Amino acid sequence: MCRSFFNSLIAAIFVSFWLALTDAAIENLIRKHALANAYRHEGKADLGAVVSKIIAEQPDIRSKIREVMPAAKVVVQEVNRMSPAEQQLQIEDLFPDILEVQEKRVEERRLPALSNAVEGKVVTRFPPEPNGYPHIGHAKAAVIDETYARMYNGRLILRFDDTNPAKEQLDYYKAIKDGLDWLGVKPDLVKNSSDDMARFYGYAEQMISSGHAYACTCQPDVVKQNRSEGKECACRSLSPDEHLQRWRRMLDAQGYKMNEAFLRVKGDMQSLNTALRDPTLFRIIEAAHPLKDKKYRVWPTYDFAGPIEDSIDGVTHALRTKEYELRDALYFLILKTLGLRLPELIEFSRLELRGTTVSKRKLQPLIRDGLVEGWDDPRLPTLTALRRRGFLPEAVREFVLSLGVSKAESEPDWALLESVNRKMLDPLVRRYFFVPDPVRLEVAGAPEVKAILKLHPEKNFGERVIETRGAFYIPREDAEKLKQGDSLRLLGLYNVEIEHSLPASEEGLLLKGRYAGEDLREGLPKIQWVSADSYREFTVWVTLPLIVDNEFNKESLKIVKGFAEAACGDLKPDDKVQFIRFGFCRIDSPGLAILTHR
Ligand SMILES: [Zn+2]
Repeated sequence: MCRSFFNSLIAAIFVSFWLALTDAAIENLIRKHALANAYRHEGKADLGAVVSKIIAEQPDIRSKIREVMPAAKVVVQEVNRMSPAEQQLQIEDLFPDILEVQEKRVEERRLPALSNAVEGKVVTRFPPEPNGYPHIGHAKAAVIDETYARMYNGRLILRFDDTNPAKEQLDYYKAIKDGLDWLGVKPDLVKNSSDDMARFYGYAEQMISSGHAYACTCQPDVVKQNRSEGKECACRSLSPDEHLQRWRRMLDAQGYKMNEAFLRVKGDMQSLNTALRDPTLFRIIEAAHPLKDKKYRVWPTYDFAGPIEDSIDGVTHALRTKEYELRDALYFLILKTLGLRLPELIEFSRLELRGTTVSKRKLQPLIRDGLVEGWDDPRLPTLTALRRRGFLPEAVREFVLSLGVSKAESEPDWALLESVNRKMLDPLVRRYFFVPDPVRLEVAGAPEVKAILKLHPEKNFGERVIETRGAFYIPREDAEKLKQGDSLRLLGLYNVEIEHSLPASEEGLLLKGRYAGEDLREGLPKIQWVSADSYREFTVWVTLPLIVDNEFNKESLKIVKGFAEAACGDLKPDDKVQFIRFGFCRIDSPGLAILTHR
């Protein structure tokens, strides 16, 4: 007993000696990694692991490891004596970053494991077609692709599937990149399918020569008819040489015109899977391509380019939405025919939010006809619109990950995304008074009061001071409920008893009241206000469902006019605030806010 006490004492003296010699920065580094390691391993840090993390972060420590080692031992022991709760407190206090990293890991773990995934070798890809603005459905795919790549320390490829020049535009490439930047999705490689045209042509010739593809010159409606009846056309039985010649005439600008010839795979015209009934691999499109201009006139379909790109880019796990499921057999047929490596295919359900649509076919006319403002109209589910409406990219990520990779169809409500966003915004934003549809309230006998109001009830965001002299504006909705003799409390100020409510005078509703003390009374309606001496006119856009009963909802944008307290005059575009008793808003321009959600 005595001996062990003596040993500890010696150890303690020895240790303080070493700690004194080791500089504070190094000790801090040791502590950080000891806590992080303990946090990840049920409260017990491992000395070896901690030391290798320290060296990884500061390689020059390796040369003085003999000096550092005793200090590391002491700190690790000290951390290991703490309870996990104490460790967590110290982490929150000193190294909050550790918790953020940890939370990210939890997020990653939420997705089920990939089959046949090897740590460090997983490659996923996000392959948008640059034919429109990215929307919440793209966010789901991109975030899942990235999360899997990071989960296995693998790589993410962003591939623009741009082989239909009739539909693609340069600004859509940019919109997709901007959307991903905003979401914080960072691809390890960015590429365009259109850069691989020479390879696609090579593979096409390979398939024609081996008799696995043929150039069909039947009319498109005949092809369609044959497909539905399971009939083969006469082109199919011609020799590969004949098809090679036809293929060259497709490539030749003097040869076939658009819709006069198609390269089709020799599938199975009687297959129960109609996707295998000799689908088109290449078609002639004479439109200028946004990157390649008129360099090519024969373009591969997604059915052909997709699997080849996945295979040659080393993609190990190709995730796509469920509507492609019937095309899986075709995907593998093409790769097997060409002798290319087969990636794993994984399908998940497409994401639509209730009350809106991600369909370009439905959105484009709304924009063309001016029924919505543009791709960033806050009623739309595009990423640029979500951003403009005030959603945080972290909330969008959290939301789409919470839906997982299940194949079950779901049409989640906006409310789900809103609740994730609300939780994140609440501790971050300042609170102000905004009075929608204002009604004047004059208070007799009111003292001159400087109201000192905190910008957040819990956070230390400071306060604003509003001078009041007895004339206010309050929301019409509240004012209309007040009758003579009723009392109310002006939030953060004092009580008022209503003496007269004068409906429909020329200036609108005017309320008159009397000062009724400052004591807090239960049951009084608590109402936000602005001083009649200092306020800013503010307009708030309130979005409602864009689509109702499959039709554009003409009432989908409500414009609310009102007065905000004077301090709101300093708000800048993109600031996010909470208007008390009204909702969370993003400032769009001076004097204009967009309601993100209640
Ligand atoms: Zn034919």
